[in-house]
Amino acid sequence: MEWLACSLCSSKEQKKLHQEGDYCMVRCLRCGFIYQNPRPSQQELLQAYQIYLPEGDEAIEGWGTMMEPVFQKGANLIERSLPSGKLLDVGTGYGFFLALMQSRGWEVMGLEVSSTGADYGRKRWGLSILNQPWEETSFHNEEFDVVTAFYVVEHLPDPLAFFSEVHRILRPGGMILVRYPHTTPIKNILSLMRIKNDLYHLPFHLSDFSPRIMRWALEKKGFTGIKTVIGGFTTPSNLSGKWAGFIFGNLAETLYRLSRGRILLPGVSKTTIARKVTP
Ligand SMILES: [Zn+2]
Repeated sequence: MEWLACSLCSSKEQKKLHQEGDYCMVRCLRCGFIYQNPRPSQQELLQAYQIYLPEGDEAIEGWGTMMEPVFQKGANLIERSLPSGKLLDVGTGYGFFLALMQSRGWEVMGLEVSSTGADYGRKRWGLSILNQPWEETSFHNEEFDVVTAFYVVEHLPDPLAFFSEVHRILRPGGMILVRYPHTTPIKNILSLMRIKNDLYHLPFHLSDFSPRIMRWALEKKGFTGIKTVIGGFTTPSNLSGKWAGFIFGNLAETLYRLSRGRILLPGVSKTTIARKVTP
């Protein structure tokens, strides 16, 4: 286990929010970022990711179906601003989003640390997927029009370094799209009601971004035109998860629409897009 300062602002002052066995989530007292501290080493996590994705054809299909509304909304959001071009999907899993973008005329490439995920995407759709973490890649400056990362930032030890790298490999005017859980508000409600839960998904989730912190982090790395939306919702296959996902997801989308984008229901996942400034 490693002890850390806040990876967004370097402050060591923090307050414990949640404990699950050896794992803790803390809030940075300077910037408000919520992150796991201490946390397992990167080596341990990479090993754990080899068995992270669901396995077996049925589970994989189920996962693809569950994610489809979010992927469709993500694709529409991108295409509202950009014509097709070259897209990199980081943490692409089995490649469902890449396959969708390929079918919509994009030149696509993926990164996936799980070899099971990478192999599946290559075999099923002939996708180009590199089986390595983003830290080991060597893309050219301004190589991509779009970089996407669905449910990835919460797994990264150094999200700011990741945003810097995405900024470097995007062409001017290019777009980053990140999709992430926003768990803390729901955690707080459940804690008040003394309902035990493992929503932080420890030790895998190293942080819990709010839309405000996400904006701040992206601005810090030079992104502009930052916009956060609900971006659809997933309905897990178990019955209670399905209902909760359906009710909260619909509520979030409805509030967002009625308030013309002003109300972002806390506790449900968010999609944020931002652009690299055109000189
Ligand atoms: Zn901080």
